[in-house]
Amino acid sequence: MSQIEDFLSQTEEEEIVEAIRQAEDSTSGEIRVHIEKHDYGNAEKRALDVFHFLKMDNTKLQNGVLIYVAVEDRDFVICGDKGINEVVPEGFWNSTRDIIQNHFKAGNFKQGLVEGILKAGEQLEKHFPWHHDDTDELSNQISKG
Ligand code: CA
Ligand code: CA
Repeated sequence: MSQIEDFLSQTEEEEIVEAIRQAEDSTSGEIRVHIEKHDYGNAEKRALDVFHFLKMDNTKLQNGVLIYVAVEDRDFVICGDKGINEVVPEGFWNSTRDIIQNHFKAGNFKQGLVEGILKAGEQLEKHFPWHHDDTDELSNQISKG
């Protein structure tokens, strides 16, 4: 059985962190990635728990976005905070989700996350543009369960 640490190499992790940094250069939204083996039977619920646990519901504009991945269950969830849900149209995350899904299906986990993060940043920019007094409210490091 693979360890969570084997899911992404050090270099791949760095590329993902860099993608988050890059995405957050154009939006005030805060993107995080959480990776763990299993989703305890309900990825949506688990993603919300992680969202709360990582204090992602504490950003000023309530515009945190979590990309939650359960490696061995081959499942992922994109979870945005209230501030985002209030202003974006239905299906807002569909294009981001499709990008991640297509890469995951092909086994390209790192690429799926990198492109998904950049797409999420692009999407967020329309509603939450970067502002000169923006701060990095949530760590860009990958969280592991
Ligand atoms: Ca920020
Ligand atoms: Ca951040």
